[in-house]
Order: sequence, then structure tokens, then C-alpha cells
Amino acid sequence: AAQALEQERVMDTQCPFCSVQCKKLVVEQTGDGWATYTAVPKPNAASEGRLCTKGMHAHQHALASDRILHPMAKVDGEFVRISWEEAHRLVASKLTAIQRTYGDDAIGVYGGGSLTNESAYLLGKFARVALRSRYIDYNGRFCMSAAASAGNKAFGMDRGLTNPLSDIAHARCIILAGTNIAECQPTLMPYFTQAKEDGAFIIAIDPRRTGTTELANLHLNVKPGMDAALASGMLKVIVEQGYTDHAFIEARTKGFNELKEHLAAMDLEQIAEITGVPAGLIRQAAEAFGKASTGMVFTARGVEQQTDGYLAVRNFLNLALVTGKMGREGSGYGAITGQGNGQGGREHGQKADQLPGYRSIDNEADRAYIAGVWGIDAGDLPGKGVSAYEMMEKIHAEEIRALFVMGSNPVVSNPNADFVEEGLRKLEFLVVSDMFLSETARMADLILPTTSYLENEGTLTNLEGRVLLREANRPAPGEAKHDWQILGEVAARLGKAAYFPYKSAEQIFEELRIASRGGIADYYGITYERLRREEGVYWPCPDPVRPGEKRLFERSFAHPDGKAELIAVPHHFPDEQVSEAYPLQLTTGRVLTHYLTGVQTRRSHSLAARQFESYLEIHPATAKKHRIEDAVLIRLESRRGSIVVRSKLTADIREDTVFVPMHWGGIQNVNKVTNEALDPTCKMPGFKVCAVQVRPLIES
Ligand code: SF4
Repeated sequence: AAQALEQERVMDTQCPFCSVQCKKLVVEQTGDGWATYTAVPKPNAASEGRLCTKGMHAHQHALASDRILHPMAKVDGEFVRISWEEAHRLVASKLTAIQRTYGDDAIGVYGGGSLTNESAYLLGKFARVALRSRYIDYNGRFCMSAAASAGNKAFGMDRGLTNPLSDIAHARCIILAGTNIAECQPTLMPYFTQAKEDGAFIIAIDPRRTGTTELANLHLNVKPGMDAALASGMLKVIVEQGYTDHAFIEARTKGFNELKEHLAAMDLEQIAEITGVPAGLIRQAAEAFGKASTGMVFTARGVEQQTDGYLAVRNFLNLALVTGKMGREGSGYGAITGQGNGQGGREHGQKADQLPGYRSIDNEADRAYIAGVWGIDAGDLPGKGVSAYEMMEKIHAEEIRALFVMGSNPVVSNPNADFVEEGLRKLEFLVVSDMFLSETARMADLILPTTSYLENEGTLTNLEGRVLLREANRPAPGEAKHDWQILGEVAARLGKAAYFPYKSAEQIFEELRIASRGGIADYYGITYERLRREEGVYWPCPDPVRPGEKRLFERSFAHPDGKAELIAVPHHFPDEQVSEAYPLQLTTGRVLTHYLTGVQTRRSHSLAARQFESYLEIHPATAKKHRIEDAVLIRLESRRGSIVVRSKLTADIREDTVFVPMHWGGIQNVNKVTNEALDPTCKMPGFKVCAVQVRPLIES
């Protein structure tokens, strides 16, 4: 018999699993001893009311039965439940003792790009004011650092998309470089489908055939790590064939003559050889983009997670700039951010080199301003630290003796993961604030339970730079607390209560508004009240009664002279080349139903069921050479480590390349294999290419 419905409640929220931040409603129906949850899309401007499978099931992990519900300390290798009072006493005594012995910088702080703007802001303040440590960075280093550095250098500021998503419909040619939107941000696909139906020519650059490349008119099947050279080839054709916009170059850019000279010395046939893309196809792509009246360029991790990621993105920006395709309806650039708050997470000071408002930690005026907002002496503000992976090296070298992790799983997400795990084992004290016993949390000395997106109020900034308010919908389960409460209470135990007086997320946002005022990412004009009334507000927004800036660079770029910078990008080859012992190139990425290291999506039964284990994509011809059959366990090995995953034979991948997704830990953690070499400018690791060998786990 049907069970009677006693109560129905609608939670008005947004999906946490990517940078689109689609709005949705989760309907909770409860009766005597039962409860069901159903997610439905909610009309909103960013996704035009669409919701993908991740968003449809994103409530399942928040309701999972293995949420951590109370603080836990490790005693004799086992976690035991303790009170918050005991947890506070433990964390304060350990951190204080370690700093007394080794100095303030002996503590590192590691954040995440899924934290709300308020938590990201507070984590930066916690590291610099409560701990007085220079060592803070976050997993967004692996997500956006190449595109952010490139945007800052080329345009004078970095915002993921320079244009609103609605501009895609007006682009006559679109370059999708190293981005698999069909799986990573599925609700964006209809923007591109519609643009194509309206006549846009789409060029996709990817070593794999994906749902995204299938949409394209032209798929450039580039060798991993050779994106920058491919962009050089297109630039060479554009400049030599005169598809450039001279008036735009003259009035709004600098560095064109050097770029032109540099391109003249390049050989298109050689570019074809090193990129694996025939010269004819490079010409076709250049002609399509160069001749189009409007055009947009999008990059993502395929281009950015390289040891030349910064320069590779710069070269794609060169393409937009020399053709005058910036600052107009249907003309602009976009870094398709992956993490839920990948945009906001990089603006408020959880990066080693940044203070809130995208201010620089090296700039005296910026330091003085933020010190004033925080009520400390500018001289007491620590200096620049190091990037995420470099922090792991400092932990390994025992320079950092304690680590405070919030909203991240570094033991799975860092490259060279065995080295990272070895380092974390050397720590004298590891504190992890998380919802689940992630691979990193399992290694902790102390776990502090935190709230999920259904319980925690705060703002997030989507890939367009649109700030959105996500309201709390459920009480915190068990004894879990919000990130900002945890930080405030630990800071108080460290004697810094006066600097952390917050009673709500909104109070923190009010301080963030002031801290960002006059900075590049200016949120001063944005308030919770306004966000409740409007459908998100774009930054920069310095004025509470005026709209934020939807489309950037319409009249000038953000450099003092108003001009964008072009740059000559030399050919760069991946840090690690194939050899007899390691004859294949490995590239990594996401799958449709998982997010980051899978800590949340692996706990959603509907998402996990769709892809419950990792796998290795390999071309049938390559598989034959290595005696690998379909759906068998294989060992994948690099110079750093090895993993075991199941083979998946497919002609969708280059014969010289294999692919493994990044959402699993343990023996399936592909980052045990990936290369830790860093881009010298932005410190992005070269996740997207390393040399590997494959063999059946059980030889027949
Ligand atoms: Fe939207 Fe991204 Fe969530 Fe899918 S994963 S529903 S595209 S926010």
C-alpha cells in the first residue's frame, strides 16, 4: 500500500559540482519512517534552467550515512570520538607547540576551490592573522593558475569568462581548446549547439574524440602538450594571410611586431610534425577563425595543466587579440573553470601570492590596505609562500611540520601522489576539516566535521564572474559546523578571537566587500540583500546601485596604458618524453558523473553506479602491441609510481596516448603516475602529459 506523505519541503539551492552553478530545487518528501529526495532544475540565467546528471543527484552525498558527525582524534591508529572542546584544546596546543619549536611558518594551510567565497576569504585571514604563516595555497592551483596568470599578464586582470555566456550565440567561430564541456559542464553544451545551428564554425582541440569534439566542425587531434605550438601554427597563417585586425592591434595591443617576426621564423610543416596535426587542418582552422566577424576562444585544463600552461594560454589569447576578437558581443575569451567556486576561490586570498580582492601580497599598498581592514600592522602580515605542490615538497623536507586542510584531498589531487603521501606521514600534526573520511582525512590526527552545500550559506562566483548566493536549507547534521565557525573557534583558541568575531556568513561577506574594495575583483557593490533580489551580480561591481560589468574590455584593457600584451611563444616540449621503457603518453581528465577526487560523487549511489571504477582508454592498435585485451586489469607505470585500472579499448584516442580519469584514490589514483614538474610562471603541474608503460596485470 502507498505510504502516506506527511510533509513536503522544497530546498532552493544550486549544484556544487562545477563552475556553472546551476540553480535547482531539491524536493524532500517524508512520511512515517521514509524520506525521498528529487532534484529539479530551477530557471536561472547561467544554465538557462538546465541541470545535468551530476546536479540531479548532488543531494545524495550530502544525505549519505557516512558523513562525519563529530570531531575525531586518532589514538593508537584508530579514530575516537571527542568533543569540540577537546578538539579545540588539541589543535591549539599542537599548533602552538609546533610554532614555538620551529617558528610560525612551520604550519601550512591548504584550501579548496569548492569553498564559498566567505570560507576562502576567512581561510586566508586565518593563515595570515591567526597562524601568522606564509604557507597557504589551495587545490585551485591545479585548476586555474595557468589561465589566471595568462589573463593577468595579457589583459591586466583575470576573470574566467570575459563575456557572459549569452555571448556564445553571437560568435561566428569558436575555439574549444582542451575542454570537454560535454562531460565537465554539460549544461553549457546547448550554448554551443545553438551557436553551431546558427552558423558558427566550431574548432575543438583535443587528443581524444569526446562528446565535445563530436559537435565541432573541425577536430584537431593534437599530441598531448603541444597546444601552444598548434596555436603558433594558426597564428602564423592568420598573420601571413592578413586575417589580422590592424586597427585593433594598433589601438589596443602592444608587442605585435615582435610576435610577427617570431612567427615568420617558424615553419608550418615542422609545427604539423610536432603537434601531430596536418598543416592543411591548421590552415583551415586559422582561416575559419581569422575570417569570422566574431569569435570566442575557450581553454581548459587540457591546455592549462602543462609545464608550459601559462604560455600556451597566452598563445590562445594572442589568437583572440590579433584578430580583434575581444571586448565585443560574441568576441572574447573564457577559461572554463572546473571547480564549483573555481572563480571566487581564486579571488579572496587563499592563494600563496594573493590577498583579498585579487590584491598582490608583494605590493606594499595592497598589504597596507588589507592590514588596515584586518586591524593588524602591515609589518605583521606574512609574505608570499609557495604553490600547492611546493608546499608538499616543504612537508617532505620537514620544513612544514603541521598542515591544516579544509575542503581538499591533497593526497589524491597532487601529482606524484606517493611522494605526497610519504610527506604527509612525516607531519607532526595533520588537521582535516571535511564531510567524509577522504583519503587525506584518513591520515589525519584530528578531523573536524564540516557542513555540506545544503546546510551552509554563502556566496559562490560562477565561471562568468557572476556572484550568486546559496542559502542554507538544512540544519547541520550531528555536531558538524560550518567552515567559518571552525576557523573562528580555532582562531579564538589561538588567542585571536578579536579578529574573528563573526556570527554569520553574511558578516564575513560584509568584511570581504570592504577588503575587495578598489581591488581587481571588486565586490563592494554586492550585498546579500542584492543577491536575493537579482539573478547574481557580475564583478567588478564597485557601486551598490549599479550593475556589475558583464562584458570586460569593451573600451580598454586593465593594464595602466589600457593595452593588451601580445607575446612571442617559443615551442616547448613536455617535460617528460617517451622512451623505450615508457613508450606512451598519459593524459588525464574528468568523466561525466564525477567531481574532483570523487570524495563526494563516489558517495552518490546514482553517480557512482554510472561509473564505479577508473579505467584506461587505449587505442585498439596500441592495445594489441602491448597484448592488452578489452576490460582486463592492467598495470600503468611511470617513473614515479604505478596503478591498476581496467582497460577500455577505443579508437577515440590517439595511438600514442592513453587516458585515465582523475576521480579515484588508492591503487586507481592516476596521480601516483603523473609528473610533478611545474610551469615556471604559474606553478601548475604538468598533469596532462607524462611517459608511461602499460601491461596486463596478469600475463596470459
Ligand atoms: Fe550544472 Fe555543473 Fe552541476 Fe552539471 S555539474 S548541474 S553543469 S553546476
